[in-house]
Amino acid sequence: MKRGLLIIISGPSGVGKGTIREYFMKDEGLNLTYSISMTTRSPRKNEIDGKDYIFTTKERFEEAIREGDLLEWAEFVGNYYGTPLSQIERLRKEGKNVLLEIEVQGATQVREKCPDAVSIFIIPPSMEELEKRIRGRRSEPEEVVQQRLAKAVREMKMVKDYKYVVCNDDPQLAADMITLIIRRHMEQEQEEE
Ligand code: 5GP
Repeated sequence: MKRGLLIIISGPSGVGKGTIREYFMKDEGLNLTYSISMTTRSPRKNEIDGKDYIFTTKERFEEAIREGDLLEWAEFVGNYYGTPLSQIERLRKEGKNVLLEIEVQGATQVREKCPDAVSIFIIPPSMEELEKRIRGRRSEPEEVVQQRLAKAVREMKMVKDYKYVVCNDDPQLAADMITLIIRRHMEQEQEEE
């Protein structure tokens, strides 16, 4: 059986990655499995442990790093985020396409380890719009909002390292674009078979 694709989606915090993902994950033809990350950040109001993230402690996260249990990891605005390694290889071997939604430092690590990964960067229509969206969440103190905005400016510079760039002016259109990209790569894989 052909190995599944590894798809990386990055983009500044607040750009709407989660909303876009909800749209294109509905398409069963894409055969996608979402890789649930580990994080030391506290859950937001609607987030569910084991579904949105595996919420954990700093100690357990550092143990996972030491044990080599993570494909990649990064520190983002004071918290750790990482991709558990165990599931990814198994799912790909089963022919499933695996989706990682990770920030730019983690994406660099994955590209080095898995050069065949398909990388997509989502940009906001403008930085003003991004700020509006981050503030709209109303879940974090001003200091963290400022850190996320500063980080967004730095992250946007990494766009050149990605194979595809998609603008989230409209989440449904952005999701359609990502669907096209994934389909194209699935077709290519089949042609190579
Ligand atoms: P948030 O706190 O907004 O959920 O996530 C902050 C950032 O961490 C986002 O850019 C998100 O994509 C990224 N992120 C989520 N999971 C992972 C992961 O497993 N690894 C890395 N490197 N970044 C992640």
